[in-house]
Amino acid sequence: MNKFELLGLNDALLQAIKDMGFESPSEVQEKAIPILLQEDTDMVALAQTGTGKTAAFGFPLIQKIDVNSRKTQGLILSPTRELCLQITNELKNYSKYFKGLNTVAIYGGASITDQATQIKKGAQIIVATPGRMQDMVNRRLVDISAIQYCILDEADEMLNMGFYEDITEILSHTPKEKSTWLFSATMPKEVSTIAKKFMRTPVEITVGTKNMGTSNVSHEYYVVNARDRYAALKRLSDANPDIFSVIFCRTKRDTQKVAEQLIEDGYNAAALHGDLSQNQRDLVMKSFRARQIQMLVATDVAARGIDVDDITHVINYQLPDEIETYTHRSGRTGRAGKSGVSMVIVSKSEARKIKGIERIIGQAFERKDIPDGREICEVQLFHLANEISKTEINHEIDKYLPSIAELFEGLTKEELLKKFFSVEFTRFFNYYNNAQDLNAKGSTEVYEDEGDSTRFFINVGAKDDFDWMSLKDFLKATLDLGRDDVNRVEVKDSFSFFNVDSSKAEDVIKIFQDFKHNGRHINVEITKKSAGKERSGGRKGGGGFKGRDKGERSFDKPSRGGDKGRRRSSDAPSGGRRSSSDAGSGGRQGKKSGGRNSSIESSIKRRRSKK
Ligand code: ADP
Ligand code: MG
Repeated sequence: MNKFELLGLNDALLQAIKDMGFESPSEVQEKAIPILLQEDTDMVALAQTGTGKTAAFGFPLIQKIDVNSRKTQGLILSPTRELCLQITNELKNYSKYFKGLNTVAIYGGASITDQATQIKKGAQIIVATPGRMQDMVNRRLVDISAIQYCILDEADEMLNMGFYEDITEILSHTPKEKSTWLFSATMPKEVSTIAKKFMRTPVEITVGTKNMGTSNVSHEYYVVNARDRYAALKRLSDANPDIFSVIFCRTKRDTQKVAEQLIEDGYNAAALHGDLSQNQRDLVMKSFRARQIQMLVATDVAARGIDVDDITHVINYQLPDEIETYTHRSGRTGRAGKSGVSMVIVSKSEARKIKGIERIIGQAFERKDIPDGREICEVQLFHLANEISKTEINHEIDKYLPSIAELFEGLTKEELLKKFFSVEFTRFFNYYNNAQDLNAKGSTEVYEDEGDSTRFFINVGAKDDFDWMSLKDFLKATLDLGRDDVNRVEVKDSFSFFNVDSSKAEDVIKIFQDFKHNGRHINVEITKKSAGKERSGGRKGGGGFKGRDKGERSFDKPSRGGDKGRRRSSDAPSGGRRSSSDAGSGGRQGKKSGGRNSSIESSIKRRRSKK
């Protein structure tokens, strides 16, 4: 007997399940479906993204619907238009053998009258975003006074996006006697509040470990003089060549200004705010999803609808007025099981606000320094080296090779490498040579001094499948250190940095001597020591960087390189920064959107060498 049959699903559903090729139920389906079929009960189900929650509520819902009545019996609320459409599609697949069952999607940005017409024809199930639903309820275009099932899907996301009031309003139009099923990946406080308020002794189901909301987001802050805010933003971006980020400003005006400035400086940036038309916003979001935009500068309101996974960084260019808003901002990253970083740029006078935020989010911030010119040059150089070594050779090049080779006759491999990398390196070097230290001086500490700490370089990074969390775990385990003894873990492509208390520095070096990880020799070196806030440099100079970091690190460390071969997909003559998803899709960057909106056109502009 098929495992789905055991759950109590009827033939029409079993046939559809067979057609879809589902072989056995997922854990959340196995736990939820029998209960929901047999009882009229409220339920809270927690399971990670991608565990099949849609079918967990979809199958029992469909089986329980009375197809002979055309009344709306089930309402599913879901955070975004995309998710609404996805759920509606899934439900249509599940119910293809249920003659007369209609599922209608209701969401913003499309004609409300068309949607109303579809509902009038009879929709037993409505899948809606809270905003549009609320609108239609108010205009009496839907009747949800007799629904028996209400499903809050991705409840954490809906609340994260500020839909609490809409949801409350909508629920007040539904009958008291109904079943409410809440599905969520995480259970932050707001979700349990909703559960308490709207549900009666719900059955609770948890699959896997409970995920505590934004715990896979690390929080960092940088203290700069107010006038250096923009320069600091650029450095943070340059120090993270693969950045895919949302940058939050407080006002529409600042949002537009910062985006324009970034575009002017050659970054793949665009603005998203309420002064753009829906059509313009859609275009911006489309480019962002396609990764043609790496830095999306947005207001809080406009960013509400952003449901893009893989955002690596959220940057708070300015802190929000309400501390709660910070949670919504940082929740844009660290999604779908990935880790993310939320950065805050503050002026000295704002630095004290960090403590208040820590209390609300229940997580500590790490104070970091705006990277200096040398660090950025290094990161960019190794990023390029990685990209190059990853590049597939295009054999169209073969026929030109003799003439090219002739040009370089007589150069050793080393000379050739130096020349080749100087093309890109010099660009950053010239820009950042003599670059100032942007970190604000004076008493800006919101914590006590961190004591005497040593910063290490280690030759593993993202390409070894580390992120800051897993590297921290790895270091803690290997060094036999506690949770707070390894900090400031920063993972780059092929290498990383971390801090350990100076008293343990010698041990660290010892442990990593002749240490192998996955068959690779691990190289760990001290990059700098810091006693409290004082930095003592002390390595041999090179490059003439001004500022207090002068001479701390040299470029000629053989260990520091991607010896493994990487390549770069970009065809940009001036080293344009583009995402790997652009690789090989030659035409895309050149395609003009034709719109008049500069922020959209800019998204396809390459990063120019001007900075
Ligand atoms: P969630 O809502 O938990 O993030 P979804 O309901 O969107 O997950 O399901 C993720 C994917 O898994 C969908 O493509 C869905 O069709 C598929 N899926 C769901 N249940 C099963 C199953 N029992 N067997 C195989 N695939 C499934
Ligand atoms: Mg889902």
